[in-house]
Amino acid sequence: MTYQGLIHKYGHLLNLPSHSRTVSLLEGDTPLIKADNLSRHLGGDFELYIKYEGLNPTGSFKDRGMTAAVGEALGRGAKTVICASTGNTAASAAAYAARAGMKSIVLIPQGKVAAGKLAGSVAYGAQVIQIDGSFDDALTMVVEITNKHPIALVNSINPYRVEGQKTAAFEICDVLESAPDWLCLPVGNAGNITSYWAGFKQYDEIKSTGLPQVLGVQAAGAAPLVVGHSVDNPETVATAIRIGKPARGEQALQAAEESNGQIIAAADMQILEMQKMLATLEGIWVEPASAAGLAGLAQEIANGKLTMKGKRIVAVCTGHGLKDPDIITKDMPKPKIVPPQLDALEEIILG
Ligand SMILES: *Cc1c(COP(=O)(O)O)cnc(C)c1O
Repeated sequence: MTYQGLIHKYGHLLNLPSHSRTVSLLEGDTPLIKADNLSRHLGGDFELYIKYEGLNPTGSFKDRGMTAAVGEALGRGAKTVICASTGNTAASAAAYAARAGMKSIVLIPQGKVAAGKLAGSVAYGAQVIQIDGSFDDALTMVVEITNKHPIALVNSINPYRVEGQKTAAFEICDVLESAPDWLCLPVGNAGNITSYWAGFKQYDEIKSTGLPQVLGVQAAGAAPLVVGHSVDNPETVATAIRIGKPARGEQALQAAEESNGQIIAAADMQILEMQKMLATLEGIWVEPASAAGLAGLAQEIANGKLTMKGKRIVAVCTGHGLKDPDIITKDMPKPKIVPPQLDALEEIILG
């Protein structure tokens, strides 16, 4: 049977109200790619899979939650959706609102949103507003305005976002026929780690698929869950997780604790190095934040804190590399220019 989107496939397992409508771009059903080259590079004694969420319709996992959140908002008669965003939520909200015939307003922190994300929001017709402040400031404003006006909030504090995002855990278990031993993923506002944990627990209850240990990874300059308090001026190249006060921080810590996992931090340099390794060793180009989970995993293996021998690991790569081309091109040497002659080309290639 042809694939008809998340709500069609897994809607019966999601806690959505009866007024919800289906607004779909056939999100989900993303590939789980075995990464033997990278696994070998990191020690080679475990099975590694990449859940490539950058292949969702707007280029990030945010589409999983957005199909559910926008469908609910449409069903209850909302005309406008709003969100605060480091970029990917904005693009996703804008696309699903367009599909539903609704208006979208997105608040982004000034100057800190990657080019591909901003372009997406504009292309899908959102009203884009820059806030002279952080993501956390923008989220506070979105909460205040939706308390006052009939505008639907579609950030991950919206419970239907979490419901939709649970489906990634279902897909992993369906493909592997059980939960992996470890799940590693980046943590920003902590909606995704909350969703995965809820999804794995639910599937284990109904299908006895078991539970993974969860390794959540924050960027070192934006690691409130690691340092134990909110961070006022979060800084990292991984803009999607540049968040100092995670809305679902408590739930993230609970997921780590219940799963016998951990939340750790990875430095920007490690994150960028992993982004490059994943692209050059496996042909999978992700945006910087998406490499954080793997960067944290590599760090824990290298310093001997985690032994992965014989384990099956799934790393969630949350968004596509095309979202943030500047991070690659800004330090890139200009490609050599040669005249259109074979001998010139031979000289360059063969030396
Ligand atoms: C949103 C996002 C994250 C962080 O997810 P949270 O649910 O906020 O923890 C990580 N990577 C990418 C690419 C994202 O868009």
